[in-house]
Amino acid sequence: MDQYCILGRIGEGAHGIVFKAKHVETGEIVALKKVALRRLEDGIPNQALREIKALQEIEDNQHVVQLKAVFPHGAGFVLAFEFMLSDLAEVVRHAQRPLAQAQVKSYLQMLLRGVAFCHANNIVHRDLKPANLLISASGQLKIADFGLARVFSPDGSRLYTHQVATRWYRAPELLYGARQYDQGVDLWAVGCILGELLNGSPLFPGENDIEQLCCVLRILGTPSPQVWPEITELPDYNKISFKEQAPVPLEEVLPDASPQALDLLGQFLLYPPRQRISASQVWNEVSRTKELWRQLCLRRWSSCKSSQMTLGTQTWKQYYLCRSELEFRMESGRPEKDFICKAIAGHEGGIDELAYISTNECRFDGQEKSVVCTVSSDSTVRAWDVQEVASAEGVLYVLTVPQLQLLSRTRVFPSSPTGLLCSPDCQWVFASTQNSDLGPKVYYTRSLLCLLEDDPPVSTTLPIWLTSRACWAPDETARLMVMHRNSNSTELAITTYELGARQPQEGVDVVVQQIASFLLPDTMTPPHLMKGHGSQVILLVSGSELVLFTIQGLQLAAFQDHQKPITSLWVDQSRVLTASFDLSLRVYVWNKENKIPVLKSCYHLLGGSHRWASGFTHVESDSMSIVGVEARSIGTSILRSYCFNMQHGSDDCVS
Ligand code: ADP
Ligand code: MG
Repeated sequence: MDQYCILGRIGEGAHGIVFKAKHVETGEIVALKKVALRRLEDGIPNQALREIKALQEIEDNQHVVQLKAVFPHGAGFVLAFEFMLSDLAEVVRHAQRPLAQAQVKSYLQMLLRGVAFCHANNIVHRDLKPANLLISASGQLKIADFGLARVFSPDGSRLYTHQVATRWYRAPELLYGARQYDQGVDLWAVGCILGELLNGSPLFPGENDIEQLCCVLRILGTPSPQVWPEITELPDYNKISFKEQAPVPLEEVLPDASPQALDLLGQFLLYPPRQRISASQVWNEVSRTKELWRQLCLRRWSSCKSSQMTLGTQTWKQYYLCRSELEFRMESGRPEKDFICKAIAGHEGGIDELAYISTNECRFDGQEKSVVCTVSSDSTVRAWDVQEVASAEGVLYVLTVPQLQLLSRTRVFPSSPTGLLCSPDCQWVFASTQNSDLGPKVYYTRSLLCLLEDDPPVSTTLPIWLTSRACWAPDETARLMVMHRNSNSTELAITTYELGARQPQEGVDVVVQQIASFLLPDTMTPPHLMKGHGSQVILLVSGSELVLFTIQGLQLAAFQDHQKPITSLWVDQSRVLTASFDLSLRVYVWNKENKIPVLKSCYHLLGGSHRWASGFTHVESDSMSIVGVEARSIGTSILRSYCFNMQHGSDDCVS
């Protein structure tokens, strides 16, 4: 108990007092239910044990209140539950008029899911009523108070007490003293709760047990052995007799309710317990509705929430089935099977960013080779050779051992560069720095390569500070977009520069011109990845979201397809690839007409020693292969090359 500080009393039921409390260390708010041992000779409190047992069997269900801890206290127990704001009794009490149909439906759905779950696990609650249906701050209904719940043996051989269920919700078989009963008692209670939601007040408000039966008979008519043969075997059947009464149609009792609601109500409020519609049966019926599939989609994929989401000609059900099928296929994909995989070890320290890839034409090192530069977390810069290897599946690019360390001279980067970016024409290298007093620098590549000269390389410092990310516009020779803090460092801005080199008599002068700048929306999480497309488009990744802006700050699109944060972003002329922590990979294709990417397809890499995928080193546009997805396992970095045919891998897209 010392871990909790009591904040106040919330309620007192038949079986204990409930307090609101705060966990001293975590600050978590809980409901503590003290279950006292009334008399010592009672032994271990049965109610408490039952509640614990039932809840433990239930584990974690969305519509059953979560039991967080149990500990002995004084002569009893304390159960710590997740804190719930209100209960259904309160909701009904405070509603001005009967609840709207949509509300009734939604509460009933949540109740049925909870009940169906309990029944599927052979747990009968035995005390369902509005006061035991708690409502969370977000409006979720959860079943609570398992103090009377029993784990039933399905063979029905055991006898149970009939003194269960709060009177108004007590099933007729219990009112007739049945000692053998089942899930049916909960289904009756569900009917009573549905009736109460539709009616705004209890349907059968009996003042004592006999009167309770009268209330039921007044509406449903006197039960006869014809409709309910088992009634004759009930202990109290012959003890009480009522005058014959005909049933009253439910539409007269609840004139405002819809025919569908009354039809359903009638299927719960049936005398023979076995004929009552089961919670899972209703659930199955409900599950055929559009709303269910919409709800499922919204819960599973947050991207469905955005109103721009186009379902096209698909229904929510088709969307759900198609997308889960795709996810299943993504999860069952294996690199060994679906990809040709080459791993190149030998890179120590983490690979922070694949700085750039030169193409063959570029011949960055003067030879007919492509070079990949990488910056490690230990601040060394390495250049990697790229060799073309012909394989049955087309051309594979293989990265071999580091050959050059040409950019790692301290005189070049005095304040350890945190990132290097080569401009599309390789004339410029952008170097950001961790030092917040220095602006980022842009170097004239040719001056970096003259290693013998003692002159400092030709460079310019940009007039911005606290830069975090940058990228070059691929369709321009020297257009640089830089993300940085604004002058009072409160907001993030993206500024675009054009660079030029003037060549006076001796040496080179760098000319910098700012061509655009905008502030990122303050609601946006600071992006951790940034890439350019064409000459005008900037792609930003923040968390699991991919957002597109123009260099002037117009937001073009936003995608939330990943469940986990995106770790890597590849952009080329024909497509965009994103990889996430869970190794899922998504491919977007640029729609050439309007330059806005259209979600096209995705694939999921799993297995091997991967932990994080980051960095695609090459995308072969013709053979549709991806080469060089970097993968890290703990302690080492491995460059893995994947080559897969995207047409096979992920043709059926959901867009
Ligand atoms: P009892 O068996 O005594 O009826 P309950 O578990 O139903 O005990 O709790 C009694 C009352 O306490 C509930 O009707 C509700 O108002 C409040 N209560 C119970 N559990 C919680 C909870 N987890 N969060 C908020 N209030 C709760
Ligand atoms: Mg209760």
